[in-house]
Amino acid sequence: MIDQFVIFEKGGTVLWSRSFVPIKGDPVAMLVRSVLLEDRLSIPELNVNNYTLRWQLDNQRGLIFVVVFQKQLPPPYADDLLAAVRQHFSNVEFPTAESFNPDRDFSSFSPTFESILKTSERKADAASKLTRTSAQPHKSKAKNVKNRKLLSEDTPDSQQNGSADEHQNEGENNAEDSLSPEEQLKRRREAFLARRGGRGRRTAGVANRERTKQTSAEPSTDASSRKKVIRPSTKSIQTDLASLDFSEGKPTDIVADDREARKFREQYLDGPRNKAYDDILNSEGEGDEDHDEDDESDGDDTNQSRTAGLFNYFKGLAGMRSLTRADLNPVMEKFRDGLVAKNVAKDIADKLIESVVASLEGKTMESMTSVSTIVRRALDEALTRILTPRQSTDILAEIASNKGARPYVIAYCGVNGVGKSTSLAKTCYYLLNHGHKVMIAACDTFRAGAVEQLRTHVKCLGRGVELFDRGYGKDAAAVAADAIRKAKELKYNVVLVDTAGRMQDNEPLMRALAKLVEVNRPDRLFFVGEALVGNDAVDQLTKFNAALTDHQSGASPRLIDGIILTKFDTIDDKVGAAVSMVYTTGQPIVFIGIGQTYMDLRRMNTRSLVKALLK
Ligand code: GDP
Repeated sequence: MIDQFVIFEKGGTVLWSRSFVPIKGDPVAMLVRSVLLEDRLSIPELNVNNYTLRWQLDNQRGLIFVVVFQKQLPPPYADDLLAAVRQHFSNVEFPTAESFNPDRDFSSFSPTFESILKTSERKADAASKLTRTSAQPHKSKAKNVKNRKLLSEDTPDSQQNGSADEHQNEGENNAEDSLSPEEQLKRRREAFLARRGGRGRRTAGVANRERTKQTSAEPSTDASSRKKVIRPSTKSIQTDLASLDFSEGKPTDIVADDREARKFREQYLDGPRNKAYDDILNSEGEGDEDHDEDDESDGDDTNQSRTAGLFNYFKGLAGMRSLTRADLNPVMEKFRDGLVAKNVAKDIADKLIESVVASLEGKTMESMTSVSTIVRRALDEALTRILTPRQSTDILAEIASNKGARPYVIAYCGVNGVGKSTSLAKTCYYLLNHGHKVMIAACDTFRAGAVEQLRTHVKCLGRGVELFDRGYGKDAAAVAADAIRKAKELKYNVVLVDTAGRMQDNEPLMRALAKLVEVNRPDRLFFVGEALVGNDAVDQLTKFNAALTDHQSGASPRLIDGIILTKFDTIDDKVGAAVSMVYTTGQPIVFIGIGQTYMDLRRMNTRSLVKALLK
C-alpha cells in the first residue's frame, strides 16, 4: 500500500498529489533538499523517518514522480506504478515541455491515477499468486513467520509483546494464507500500526477513515497544494555570488617589541603576499562569459583558446535529438577523470557524474549544441549547487546582529599542524580590521608552547585583542567558560577559542572537545582542515562530527558548522577537496587559507572554484 504519490516539476510546483493517509512531516521536501538539490540522484531510494521514497524523472519535460510508502512495507508494485504514471502523465497530460502552464489544474488526472494504481496492484497480485501456487506451501508459511519476525524486530514495543501474541499471530497467519498479497500487506500493516501503541492505533484509525472518505467520495487530490512550491528556486542560490575579497582593509597597529614578535611580524605580516590563488578566488564574472561562449556554435575559432583544456575534447558531437545514456557515457567518463584529477574523491565524482547523467537522460538537445556543452553546463550547475552555502557564511553580519547576553564565540578544532592557530590569528586580524574587540581563549592546555604561540600572535596583532590563558593541564571547557565571562565583563564582543589539535580517533581528547562545545555552546564551531590532504580531511571531519555526537549528552548536540580549508596555496589547481568536504558534510567552507601571513585568508568564491574545477 502506498502512502502518497506526488508529481511536481523541477521549478518546484506540485502539479498533482494524492495522500492515502496523513503524512508525518514532509518527506517529499526532504527528497528535494537532500537528493535533488544535492545532486544525489544516483541513489535508488531515500528513507525519511518511517517512509521510503522512490522516484522517476522525465528530464525532457522537467517532471519528477515520487511514490512514498512505509519503510517496513514496500509495495511490490511501486516501480511499476511509477513507470505507468510517468508514461501516462508525460504522454497524455503533459505532451510537451512547452505545454506546461503553471495555472493548469490537473485534478482531472485523479480517476486515471486510481485506475493505473488498481492495474498495478492487480498485476503484482497476479504475479505473486503465480509464485505462490508454484511454491511449496510450507515454504510460504515459513516466509510469513520470518517476515513477521523481521517486522517485530524493528519495533521495540512489539518486541516486548511479541511472545504473548505469538500464538494468536500464528492463527492469524494461517488465515492470512488465504488472502491476496495486497490484502495480506494491508492486514499486516494494520496489525503493525496497532502494535505501535496508542499513537500508531490513532494513525491507523485516521488512515482508515481517510481511506474510506477518499474512496467513497470523489478521489481527493490535494488541490490546495497543487501550486505549492516545495523548494526555493535554485536561481536565488546561484545569484548570491558577491565579490568575496576582503583583503584591502587597513592593517592594524602593530606592537612588535621583542625579537620573537618581530620574527612573527616578518612571517605573518610582511611575508610575500601569495597571489597564486587570487585568480581562483577572486575572478568575478568570468564564469558568465564562459556560459555565453558555450551557447555559441562549437566551431568558433576565437573562443577556442579560452575553452582549451579538458572540455575541448568533447566538442563536435552536435545535432542529436534526445540524449541517451550511450551518448552521455563516453563524455561523462572524461569529466569524471577531470574531477578526480582535480582531487575530488573518486566515489564522490562517481555519484556526481551519475546524478548529472540521470538529470540529462532523455532531455532534448538544442540544435547546434554539443553533448560536451550540455554536460559542462549541467555539471557546472550541479557543482554550484553543492558548493553554494545553504546558510550565511558572513561572520561579520552574524557578529553585528549578535544581541545576545554574551560575546559572539567561535571555536576552532582539527588535527595537529593543519593551521588552527594561524587561521584563528588570521580571523582575528580580519575582525580587528572591521572594528571588533577580540579576546583569544587559549584552550589548548595540552601542547607545550601552544599558549606562548598565541601570546606572540596577540603581540603582533596589536590593539583590540587580548589573550586569556590559564596555563597548561587545566580543563579546556572551564578555561573557555572563564574567558567568555571575562570577555563579557571587559566588553570584548568576540571570543576566539583555540583548542588542542587531536586525531579524530583519540577518544579522551575528543571527549574533552565535546565537553568544551557542550558547556560553552559556541556560535560557530569551525573545523580546520588542509586542502592538501584532501580526502583524508573528509574522513577527519566525519569522525569529528561522529565523536561530537557520541560524547554530548543533550538531545541536540552541537556539531561542526563551518570549514576553514588551509594551505590552498600549495595545491596548484587541485581544488577538489573543497567539493568532497562540502558534499560529504553539507557544511559550507567559510574561509580559505592561501598563505602564512595574516592577510592570506579569503572567503570562498563559488563561481571561481567551479571554474577551476572545470578548467
Ligand atoms: P595548528 O597546530 O593546527 O595550530 O597549526 P599552526 O597554526 O601552528 O600551523 C602549522 C603550520 O601551517 C604553520 O607553519 C603555518 O604557518 C602553516 N599554515 C597555516 N595556514 C597556512 C596556509 O594557508 N598556507 C600555508 N602555506 N601555510 C599555512
